[in-house]
Amino acid sequence: MKRRMIPMILSLLIALSACGSRGSAPADAAREGEKDSTGLVCPQSVYFMGHRDFGLAPDGCYAGYNDKGGHLESRSFLTYIDRETGEEIYLCGKPECSHVDEDGYILESCDAFIGNMMLMSVSYYDGYVYFLKYDRVSYEATMARVSQDGSVHEDLFVVGSASENGSNYDYVVDGNIVYLVYNDLDNFQLAREGTQDVSVPLEKIDLTTGERTVVYTNTGDMALIGNLKQVGDRLYFLQYSKQIKDGFDSYHLMCYNTTTGETEKVMEDEVYSYTIVGEDTIYYNIPADGVYRYQISTGERSLVRKSDDESGYLFMAYDGNYLYLDNNNSCIMDSLYGDGDCEQKVFVCTLEGELVQVIPECKGQIFTQLSDGEMICTKSFRVGMGDRSFYLRTENLQEETPEWHLAERPGE
Ligand SMILES: [Zn+2]
Repeated sequence: MKRRMIPMILSLLIALSACGSRGSAPADAAREGEKDSTGLVCPQSVYFMGHRDFGLAPDGCYAGYNDKGGHLESRSFLTYIDRETGEEIYLCGKPECSHVDEDGYILESCDAFIGNMMLMSVSYYDGYVYFLKYDRVSYEATMARVSQDGSVHEDLFVVGSASENGSNYDYVVDGNIVYLVYNDLDNFQLAREGTQDVSVPLEKIDLTTGERTVVYTNTGDMALIGNLKQVGDRLYFLQYSKQIKDGFDSYHLMCYNTTTGETEKVMEDEVYSYTIVGEDTIYYNIPADGVYRYQISTGERSLVRKSDDESGYLFMAYDGNYLYLDNNNSCIMDSLYGDGDCEQKVFVCTLEGELVQVIPECKGQIFTQLSDGEMICTKSFRVGMGDRSFYLRTENLQEETPEWHLAERPGE
């Protein structure tokens, strides 16, 4: 039991480090019928660090970058991958702007420039690109947004001050309301010292009035919340909590009802990751077993795909047709506790769990990020270019070996 929990906690940390944000709201909107109008649907909870991020909009897939390799002097900026051309465009409406200097670094005068801080957790909602700005000197995080044409930049509210141990965030935007969770990784230091309980609040922030309300709190010797996804008035999230002295330990999918204000556990199983398919079905991963289908209305569950050595810890997404199962964390677990020969890949399966395609690791990439819909996006480190976005169109899944394409930046 003890041996199993260590990787579970570690992998939840990995899952939470950004899980999120960003992708959930658009992906959920897509599931509710907006996909046909937008076509390209961006990632759903497949993130490692929050600054590696995409958000879906009608014209393309928005991305946030931190140039100069993410060092303290890093400058951050926004782009989008045009759905039609696959080109990556700076989010700038200034007609005469060249966007970058002769060395290829973003100009401070460009609309796409965000600041001398880390940018993470990008999402798109109703004409705005939302994101978090993280000051690496003060450790303060601010939620901000930029209008879709790049011209209006607004700081919305200060999320909180993170600790030196780091932090992770997740949020969804719903009209003028933001639901947000902030996990301070100092919690783990405190838990190790056994000095006090920690609690993680799920907050509701009204962007019109600025009012902030805690709608749910997870408390324990260790406590985490992450992986927010909203469908109608149901806000789903994963929580981990542990009471060392009572031997109490839980790892669950929860649901906050935004109409009634009630929060309840969705099922008794320990859920590692999940994706929502339609109004009534959840697919979820239990690393030791595999992928389950759960019907919300009846509580019926069935195993649709068994796990093996390289497909235990899965991130999941759904594109309206197929399930995408990313084994990145299985490989991390394998490198830590196994023989280290796990190959990073994405299994594409039907809703019955039948394998359709295996998408290979993107060139030199560290962490895959999935999109739902027509285009699958990932960020990959490319020598001499830093982090860059790559994509793969779902229509190419029929090919024997689907290929990743670099999202070219015109004029580069
Ligand atoms: Zn520009």
